[in-house]
Amino acid sequence: MIEQTLVIIKPDGLKKSLTGNILTRLSETKLEIIAAKMVQVSRELATEHYIHLKDMPFFEELIKYIMGEYHKKKVMALVYWGEGAIQKVRDICGKTNPEEADSVSIRGAYGRITTKGVYENVIHASANMEDAEREIKLWFKPNEVITNIYPVIEEEEKRKIVKWA
Ligand code: UDP
Ligand code: MG
Repeated sequence: MIEQTLVIIKPDGLKKSLTGNILTRLSETKLEIIAAKMVQVSRELATEHYIHLKDMPFFEELIKYIMGEYHKKKVMALVYWGEGAIQKVRDICGKTNPEEADSVSIRGAYGRITTKGVYENVIHASANMEDAEREIKLWFKPNEVITNIYPVIEEEEKRKIVKWA
């Protein structure tokens, strides 16, 4: 099935200069990149992204981690698109726990567990189609994605915008 999946190179991945390496690994999948941007993650975005983990003891640390409190305050967000995209990307990422992840996977090779118990695992990838849709819609606006993947609506809106001077 043709799918789309959200990938985030987390702050530890950027701090460790792994961007090129990770993108090269992901290019093995032959999937297409249909959106990409750098993001400074707000507490709101972090909380919404990890809402399924809000009752876990490590939640606050996880929020600080993805916001870049421990590394750099930025992440790279991308959408990959193509046949079996979700599983293909997850396979290259490896298991959530970097100690359990295959040592040649991205998380196995570069992840670590902090003394506070958070898995700093370098990369996020959507786990299933439902997560992918929720996450892509959370991180990207329709016009930031170059392929029409979900239905959109048009609405008139009057507001202040920032443009190049
Ligand atoms: N996480 C953690 N400890 C856990 C489970 C998750 O630190 O016991 C962190 C880890 O960074 C993980 C993120 O929370 O990538 C999201 O967890 P999820 O269970 O959704 O795993 P993923 O989909 O990222 O593999
Ligand atoms: Mg997940």
